[in-house]
Amino acid sequence: MEFTTLLEGIVARMRTAPDKGRVADYIPELASVDLDQFGISLALADGRCFAAGNADTPFSIQSVSKVFTLALALGRLGDRLWHRVGREPSGLPFNSILQLEHEEGIPRIPFINAGALVVTDAILAGHQPREVLGEILRFVRAAADDEHIHIDEAVARSETEHGQRNMALAYFLAAHGNFVNSPELTCGTYFHQCAIEMTVRQLAMAGRFLVGGPGTPNLISRDSVRRINALMLTCGHNDGSGDFGYRVGLPGKSGVGGGILVIAPGRASVAVWSPGLNQHGNSALGTLAAEHLARETGWSIFG
Ligand code: GLU
Repeated sequence: MEFTTLLEGIVARMRTAPDKGRVADYIPELASVDLDQFGISLALADGRCFAAGNADTPFSIQSVSKVFTLALALGRLGDRLWHRVGREPSGLPFNSILQLEHEEGIPRIPFINAGALVVTDAILAGHQPREVLGEILRFVRAAADDEHIHIDEAVARSETEHGQRNMALAYFLAAHGNFVNSPELTCGTYFHQCAIEMTVRQLAMAGRFLVGGPGTPNLISRDSVRRINALMLTCGHNDGSGDFGYRVGLPGKSGVGGGILVIAPGRASVAVWSPGLNQHGNSALGTLAAEHLARETGWSIFG
């Protein structure tokens, strides 16, 4: 397969797509991003990388960062992590507090905000935010084999100034005894991890540790690779996870910056970015592009 032709074909199709979605505006710094951008990149297990569209424009990876923090937390805590967070799709929006009240402060999954806050809280325990952010960046840079990945301070500040909802989630978790650090400290760390900026090329490369097989970076155990992929498939798109699984048939993780990381196990890591979001807070064109890619490559894990 000629991957460059495939990706360029997808970019051309996206230009005429009728609905580009809407940019996230609850983080003011993201509201000013130009809607009219689309980039896609595909990194094979052996590290060969292909790209098309706005593939060298950095964007805010937001919740895609939750994949990296989950990998770190599983490495550090192993199965003990599951005492504090579950593994069932929530079927609720990414920032919902509803389920927490019914299930006594144990978030359903590490990918909704409440669950991701618990994961960040777990890796922060006993450390300074600066150390943990350094560790997260080291992990992402090692995965991408690229030292030029950093945090966009303006986005981190913007979310900190408007982060009341995540602070509320953190306080609610703390009230249930499911928080080790102060909500301010953990939320501050979480806002910074979400503000990591990457291009689709960097993100596709960084996802290779989840592809598995010869040639991929060996950063976590094979068990963790399998489990993170399972969670991405079932829960990686919040209350749109079923729809993504149905349409794409591959594990994926979205972020409100408009990025999506898609893993074709044993084959490739794919990153798409278009800042307009659908009603579930997932990139509208990113989802459509992943659907085309899965159909044209035949890479759906369901055949
Ligand atoms: N930083 C964002 C938040 O907490 C991440 C949400 C997302 O990308 O789904 O609201």
